[in-house]
Amino acid sequence: MKYFLIAPWLALFGLLCGAGAQAQNLDKPVEIHDRIAADEVKNSRVALTLDACSGKFDDRLIDFLIRNRIPATLFATKRWLDKNPEGVAIIKAHLDLFDVEDHGENHIPAVIGAGRTVYGIPGEPDILHLRREVSEGARAITQIIGVAPHWYRAATAEYDAQSVGEIGKLGYKIAGFSVNADVGATLHRAAIEERLKHVRGGDVIIAHMNKPASDTASGLSQGLLALLQRGLIFVRLDQVDLQVVPATRP
Ligand SMILES: [Zn+2]
Repeated sequence: MKYFLIAPWLALFGLLCGAGAQAQNLDKPVEIHDRIAADEVKNSRVALTLDACSGKFDDRLIDFLIRNRIPATLFATKRWLDKNPEGVAIIKAHLDLFDVEDHGENHIPAVIGAGRTVYGIPGEPDILHLRREVSEGARAITQIIGVAPHWYRAATAEYDAQSVGEIGKLGYKIAGFSVNADVGATLHRAAIEERLKHVRGGDVIIAHMNKPASDTASGLSQGLLALLQRGLIFVRLDQVDLQVVPATRP
């Protein structure tokens, strides 16, 4: 069964903002948390998602995934794709492992309104700019990778209600997550491994593949091997659907 989850996402805003929230509260951006849809979890499936926001190519991390045949969904911006042709070539040579999805054109958060920011990063001045961010990111993936994306993850992974509705109208499903493994590639190796110890079947892991100087590659390498040893099976987002869940864990 396929899910198209605009309604649950909008319902989540109601949940997070409080039942009967006033209109202005619905504009408060929220982080969307997802797990693999329940009827598609065969006990042990987990999804690894890696964001390529801007910056560089973490070749140690991608090499590790290739060597160990671990599939992943890569959320890339047009900006990152344009700046990292060597990384793009490696990814394109391994599309049996990697599903490349839309992280926007220029890594702009999906909040609409002059002066609005998420973590200090300015959002979109109006809805036309949001449409461009989503559509031009998708166009770049289609042109550069050769496969059209179906999932969208905004910069900072936060959204306001208007953006959620518009991204759905453009035809993209929003990819949340349930385990934040590296917190924007800021965590040390041991902290990443500790977070991965708590992964269970159905989880969607988020980490980053654009900061090779960080501890993400080493932390994920140890942590993901431990998950394989526990019998967990990695899937890509083009193989499953997700369902929104309340945030309960890191
Ligand atoms: Zn990002």
